Amino acid sequence: MTVEVDKEKKKDNILESTLRMIRHAIDLANLSPDVYEHLKTPMRFVEVAIPVEMEDGTTKVFTGYRSQHNNVFGPYKGGLRYHPDVTSDSLKALSMWMTLKCSLVGVPFGGGKGAVVCDPMKLTIKERERITRSYVRALGSILGPEVDIPAPDIFTDAQVMAWIADEYSSNMREPSFGVVTGKPLAVGGCVGRNEATGRGCFFVAREAAKAYEIPFEHSRIAIQGFGNVGSNAARLFAEEGCTIIAVSDISGGLYKEEGLDIPRLIDHVNKTGFIKGFPDGEVITNEDLLALNCDILIPAALENQINGSNADDVKAKIIVEAANGPTTPEADQILKEKNILVVPDILANSGGVTVSYFEWVQNNYGFSWDLATVNKHLQDKMVEAFRNVYHYYCENCIDSDMRTGAYMYSIMRLAEAMQYRGWLRNGIYA
Ligand code: GLU
Repeated sequence: MTVEVDKEKKKDNILESTLRMIRHAIDLANLSPDVYEHLKTPMRFVEVAIPVEMEDGTTKVFTGYRSQHNNVFGPYKGGLRYHPDVTSDSLKALSMWMTLKCSLVGVPFGGGKGAVVCDPMKLTIKERERITRSYVRALGSILGPEVDIPAPDIFTDAQVMAWIADEYSSNMREPSFGVVTGKPLAVGGCVGRNEATGRGCFFVAREAAKAYEIPFEHSRIAIQGFGNVGSNAARLFAEEGCTIIAVSDISGGLYKEEGLDIPRLIDHVNKTGFIKGFPDGEVITNEDLLALNCDILIPAALENQINGSNADDVKAKIIVEAANGPTTPEADQILKEKNILVVPDILANSGGVTVSYFEWVQNNYGFSWDLATVNKHLQDKMVEAFRNVYHYYCENCIDSDMRTGAYMYSIMRLAEAMQYRGWLRNGIYA
């Protein structure tokens, strides 16, 4: 199986739409145009060649990127993804979302994002390790625990982070594991980090259901994407009593009105790698899943999944964006008209970077928290972030959508920090 590159979906340029959205939020909040000047482009964007000796003896040179968008709050922070569909523009947008996400949830990091353009499904484990080490050799000089801290993202995991920590430490000639988060526990990882994005999304969905007066424990949920985020969120929803009526991954989807057996499905996916072949439930497509009649829809896959061509079919009451950028601006407009609440990605999936922050703090302290402490702090952060943003949205831009409210709220905080640091000589406001 290869990672599909959907040419149609690539048409939506997420950098252009993100810049439009940032500008719109700045205008609505009456902020200085200088704020836009600071946010419109990454502070540093690096493209490198990643030469790798493949297992068959040939050499391949992959393209690697790191986008360091803004560090007004602290070191750049954000995932490293391995995917054939990454472009320099999409990566810039992803790094901008990290800046907005960190600001919104109140962790003292800036925004960054990295990628290697490759098809991870076609790589052996050794090739994956060599790509990772080669990436660090090429970009290690602009990484560091106080400079830029990568983390897992699409098709990268704790093992990849451990290779980064190891390669970086040998280049620095000292153990320096704080250069990445999302590491295995044995090398300075944090309990609960692996499931943090899914758990954060769960807390946010519960708050959103409360705000919309939907009885959460009886809600019917559909989840697109069953990787780390989707499967962990599914497990937590099911444990809470919610009914997961459908899930999907790149192998297809499954639907069962009475609810899928999530622990069994997770077992199946752990053994086979995919949802396909699970013996219970009706086979559906990804498109079918998005159009199901449900209370909460969780897009937990890639960008641009809910777009102008299918948004009108969505029947959920609430969408909680576990993925980064799953909804296009055109779809946002349609969903708003249908009175569907979209809890935006920069809020809904910020649980991952929040626990990354906890991991970084523990690495700095040389001390580790237990799972109950991590989860409690995560819950507090997510609930507070949801309430702050929802309140801000209701007060300031209810005619618009929650994404606009989240952008305004986040950019206000960034502007305040810029002002104190002396980046806005003419003040925060226009
Ligand atoms: N890749 C995750 C995200 O997009 C986590 C980033 C991090 O922990 O730094 O939010």
